[in-house]
Amino acid sequence: MGKSIMFAADLTLPAIGQGTWYMGESADQRQQEVAALQAGLECGLTVIDTAEMYAEGGAERVVGEALQGRRDRAWLISKFYPWHAGVVDAVEACERSLQRLKTDYLDLYLLHWRGNIPLEETIRAMEKLQQQGKIRRWGVSNFDCDDMQELWQEPGGEACSANQVLYHLASRGIEYDLLPACSQRQLPIMAYCPLAQAGRLRHDLLTHPELGEIANERGISVAQLLLAWVIRHANVMAIPKASSVHHVRENAAALTVTLDDAHLARMDRLFPPPQSKQPLDVV
Ligand code: NDP
Repeated sequence: MGKSIMFAADLTLPAIGQGTWYMGESADQRQQEVAALQAGLECGLTVIDTAEMYAEGGAERVVGEALQGRRDRAWLISKFYPWHAGVVDAVEACERSLQRLKTDYLDLYLLHWRGNIPLEETIRAMEKLQQQGKIRRWGVSNFDCDDMQELWQEPGGEACSANQVLYHLASRGIEYDLLPACSQRQLPIMAYCPLAQAGRLRHDLLTHPELGEIANERGISVAQLLLAWVIRHANVMAIPKASSVHHVRENAAALTVTLDDAHLARMDRLFPPPQSKQPLDVV
């Protein structure tokens, strides 16, 4: 089984899920991506995160194929562009996503990032989609503390179920304020880029020599070390993307890794926690 997070009073989810950014971009990769997502479901990575943005609908199509005959085993998230955040556009964007995903509901629907449409209108859109049965819950992504405070002050804003933000060992800014603020309201954080995109971002954590040493001592891979580190908080889940069955299984096994205080302290020395407010990191 492994670590889970209390997502809501009536819902517990595994603390690691599956991302899909860059899936659906090439026909050659499609079968491998479908197989990876299905292998993830088999080993308990039931939360699948996608977005209308990824490969302009292509990633949702891959997920739709992977979930054929298995929809009830997955907990499915999609996201919409900020310019689709008004009532009419959000309903239409959701319907297009549902078609590509070959399903009639999403477990969670997220505003991908904040744009110009007033939050109030987006909340109404989410409420409408819930009433229509197209989404079970809604949330936001890339919202910093001030955005969350504004959202919570809007009528209906407290119904927000999650905030999906960038979080990995080398980008810890949310620990200063956003994470405590969300934890206090029992709002789960979904950590994207938990592996720092395997080196595509500024930091190549997977080949970091000292992280390699710590991982060796624990008998795990650096990827597993990074995932176990992200989900050490009761309120945080990680959604690594993996397009090979091998990587997916390795990531799933991180659900059972607990890091001891000495290893956590060494990681803090290598990548110190924030001592002041940092602007929210994004990709
Ligand atoms: P990740 O940090 O998850 O890194 C993905 C990379 O890590 C891929 O190259 C993958 O390779 C590699 N990888 C996965 N598992 C392993 C492993 N066990 N060992 C070595 N390498 C591994 O970056 P993402 O940007 O993909 O973030 C995760 C997900 O978060 C996205 O896919 C997306 O769903 C979501 N996201 C949301 C954003 C938002 O604005 N809300 C922004 C960015 C991401 P391979 O594919 O070859 O297995």
